[in-house]
Amino acid sequence: MIDIPTVCKLLSRLRELISLPSADVSYSAYATPDEVIEDLYKLEKGIIEKNFVAVRKLLFLLLPTCDLQEISIDSGFGDEFLKIAEELENALGVNSEAELYPEQAIRQARAMSCQPPEIDHYTEIAKFTGTDNSNYETTYVSCTCPDYTKRKLPCKHIYRLRHELLNKCYKHW
Ligand SMILES: [Zn+2]
Repeated sequence: MIDIPTVCKLLSRLRELISLPSADVSYSAYATPDEVIEDLYKLEKGIIEKNFVAVRKLLFLLLPTCDLQEISIDSGFGDEFLKIAEELENALGVNSEAELYPEQAIRQARAMSCQPPEIDHYTEIAKFTGTDNSNYETTYVSCTCPDYTKRKLPCKHIYRLRHELLNKCYKHW
């Protein structure tokens, strides 16, 4: 789950650092510090709205050698940036479950062979029909199938729903 208050607090600290007079964005894809700040606001808004494209974009921006790290080093706050990036990744918490439980990768791989679900795009709840015609109701974090009920970790239905929602977000971003 995403710890939204912590993400907002950390993004606000990043914006503060980037608005200091010492901020230097000349070796990044950004033209001015204001552009970086605007992007961080946009990502924060997306994360509050639980837009998972925003989550992915932020995770991407935090990667070593990506813009934010480059800017932080050139601007003299490289050490603080590394701490903020680590705390942000923890607060976003999106990759942890697969890393903690390697068998999750099998479920991620199986997700694409499920029958395409019926999705209510307003509530983001999906209905899956299993091979034996049983019906499951799936949300971003839960499912009524036996696998989820037993393990309380994302099942293939949850991964498939996330995939479908993410695809939809990309089209509308
Ligand atoms: Zn399931």
